[in-house]
Amino acid sequence: MSLIEEEGGKRINMAHLCIVGSHAVNGVAKIHSDIVKTQVFKDFSELEPDKFQNKTNGITPRRWLLLCNPGLAELIAEENKLKFSQFLEKEYRVKINPASMFDVHVKRIHEYKRQLLNCLHVITMYNRIKKDPKKLFVPRTVIIGGKAAPGYHMAKMIIKLITSVADVVNNDPMVGNKLKVIFLENYRVSLAEKVIPATDLSEQISTAGTEASGTGNMKFMLNGALTIGTMDGANVEMAEEAGEENLFIFGMRIDDVAALDKKGYKAKEYYEALPELKLAIDQIDNGFYSPKQPDLFKDVINMLFYHDRIQRPGTRWYSKIIAASGKFSSDRTIKEYAKDIWNMEPSDLKISLSNESSNGVYKANGK
Ligand SMILES: *Cc1c(COP(=O)(O)O)cnc(C)c1O
Repeated sequence: MSLIEEEGGKRINMAHLCIVGSHAVNGVAKIHSDIVKTQVFKDFSELEPDKFQNKTNGITPRRWLLLCNPGLAELIAEENKLKFSQFLEKEYRVKINPASMFDVHVKRIHEYKRQLLNCLHVITMYNRIKKDPKKLFVPRTVIIGGKAAPGYHMAKMIIKLITSVADVVNNDPMVGNKLKVIFLENYRVSLAEKVIPATDLSEQISTAGTEASGTGNMKFMLNGALTIGTMDGANVEMAEEAGEENLFIFGMRIDDVAALDKKGYKAKEYYEALPELKLAIDQIDNGFYSPKQPDLFKDVINMLFYHDRIQRPGTRWYSKIIAASGKFSSDRTIKEYAKDIWNMEPSDLKISLSNESSNGVYKANGK
């Protein structure tokens, strides 16, 4: 245990000096930390057992997967889409094109969350395909899912409208593989776990000022989906973190909503000014999507035209290999170092990723 080597002339034993001079000694992987303790530096370990620790090395998955291997990240995303397509085919007996864009809007059905707005967009895409079938169209599978509260009539009518539109769109041979509409019933955590990793586009489109935070938005972001959304709830902070250019932000800001409320919102003006919107609403109104019961959606139409703007309610990439690599995230390593070796407390100092020097800049979705 001497710091001085005596054989072949006096020399400093650097390893011994390190151990004596350090307050912690680490083998950087379990097996090697054990060897350090039981073999290489056994005597030192017996003298100061608390000094000897293990902190297995880590790598950052941001740089070493998302940034340096977007191909694999992409592959894993495709695998998730394939798996979810197979699940849908089995459970819902619908044929899905796994190469299409998975456009997903899953959350409780509520007017303020605007599943109806999404539905009007679906109808508009359908009408565009019909109008010009030769025009290039990025194939899309629109997945809308969520439960309605038992006594919430309008929410139930919105679900009925979505499934009625799906019946027309999915069975129109002119549309083929270009557009499919799926209503995901019984949306719950176990289903969310399946659909979120398969999502390309996350719909977070509540009217600005109505969604307190949202958590679905965060789950999709974490799983590499791009977000289309309004400046509402936590979307605002997501845009702040990722850069607004990395989300598809649209619609009124909270100030615009207040200004419009003051001025008075008149749905008819939009209906008259926008021919595609007019067509979509007329189709719903005249029974195009409910031929057996042409007035089925009269309450929806009335709500759109005659109700005040909807108020907020009162209360309110990866494969098994990568999942297994979680332990080897440097986040865990650094946290352990900070707690057990450096004796540091977490700081609330904010470090912006875009300030990272060189090419270590991380963008949403690795793009
Ligand atoms: C996360 C989650 C929600 C909340 O979704 P929002 O988009 O924030 O409304 C609702 N239901 C399930 C099953 C969830 O997992």
